[in-house]
Amino acid sequence: MRNEIIGVDQLVPSLDGQMVPYVNVDNAATTPPMRAVVDAVEQFLPLAASVHRGTGFKSRVSTAAFEEAREAVGQFVGADPERDVVVFTSNTTAAISQFARTVDLADDAIVLTTMLEHHSNVLPWRHRGPTVCIRALDDGSLDETDLDAQLARYGSRVAVLAVTGASNVTGVTPPIHRLAEKVHAVGGRILVDAAQLAGHVPIDLLDHDDPGHLDVIALSAHKVYAPFGSGALIGDRCLLDVDPEPRGGGTVRAVTLSDVVWADLPDRAEAGSPNLLGAIALAAAVRRLAEVGLGEIAAHERELAGYVRSRLAELPEISVVGNPRDALGVMSFAVAGWDPRLVAAVLGFEYGIGVRSGCFCAQPYVHHLLGLDGDAIARWVDEARCGDLRAAPGLVRMSLGCYNDRGDVDRAIEALRRVIDGDFGGTYRQEVDGSFVPDEPLPPSKGASLTEPSYWHPSVV
Ligand code: PMP
Repeated sequence: MRNEIIGVDQLVPSLDGQMVPYVNVDNAATTPPMRAVVDAVEQFLPLAASVHRGTGFKSRVSTAAFEEAREAVGQFVGADPERDVVVFTSNTTAAISQFARTVDLADDAIVLTTMLEHHSNVLPWRHRGPTVCIRALDDGSLDETDLDAQLARYGSRVAVLAVTGASNVTGVTPPIHRLAEKVHAVGGRILVDAAQLAGHVPIDLLDHDDPGHLDVIALSAHKVYAPFGSGALIGDRCLLDVDPEPRGGGTVRAVTLSDVVWADLPDRAEAGSPNLLGAIALAAAVRRLAEVGLGEIAAHERELAGYVRSRLAELPEISVVGNPRDALGVMSFAVAGWDPRLVAAVLGFEYGIGVRSGCFCAQPYVHHLLGLDGDAIARWVDEARCGDLRAAPGLVRMSLGCYNDRGDVDRAIEALRRVIDGDFGGTYRQEVDGSFVPDEPLPPSKGASLTEPSYWHPSVV
């Protein structure tokens, strides 16, 4: 896979003026593009035209390609072509938000979310109505005893369990099929945020008659080696066959001044001109991943994650949060005596290592993992309200993709060790948004194009 990833070992500038090969261990945020994706888009470009609205040859071909992409994405997750539908969205956030806004809920309905969630799988639900957050255990895994208790307490009022397939902080993978059985037993449905599963492990919605069947899932193309701007909401037609939101062009069969007849799925759920190239890119990515084999990819990433954990354990200053049992290749850690954002900044500016720091859009979960008490959280929220993010809690995160190897890990760990030893040249100041930037970057090259390496100086990007 390494040879198929565009930009692997790309030279990037470091603060001392040298060019160093980039190591991307920030795949939980975004994966780099795959060659098969670029080829598919490039080959299709001469034929690209509007989908669903034209009778011209290119429009007809584009419509067929769009529907073929839909089929490929459905196949990738084991969707039932009769009973499930694939709705193209712009990303996971848009997919979950669309489902949360439109799903039919009774007046007394409760939605269960969990402490492990990305904000994108919490905030849309909170906006919709009453939610109950299932607790996490100290090791970062889901507290299933609490889930059982809430299911017993609310019973048939539980309409949806919205849960992540894998945490983007600890990599822990809640047992989604077992959770599906539990929520189905009280008549509820499950939505799985598959943003961190897709591209890393096989996904199977399972047969609709299976109690462990997944009702709805959401995923993003930019996390499976395709570009930004496309994603999918995939699941049970019955659940998605509702009044659309957003509404507009493409979602209707008929409109008068006072009436509207909605189109059938998937059109009614895809307002506006669709992202044809995004869909083609996503389909090309999942086809290639399926060809390579998600089982093989999962095994490789699991082995490499074990290696990362053993190398991190060599550094006494580092404490990894969460329990590695059943976890994917996402490792977050505190570095004793260091602000995580400074560690990430030095790794990026001086060693060409791409990691992430902060709370990774999962603040309640990170607060829990850090053991922050109510007062500490309230203090930080007050500061945030005033726009001062300098004391924000956080961690450093390393996350793997199918193309990473032990060489990448060794370089990242060696750089981390040197940062902890104070072995770096720059001095850094902290901005009010919490980020650290070098005090004295070299001046950017004048007049250079953004796409030319001469422009890629740390002071610019
Ligand atoms: N859920 C999880 C678990 C994620 O990791 C992310 C991205 N970090 C999202 C949802 C949101 O994905 P997107 O930004 O592509 O909408």
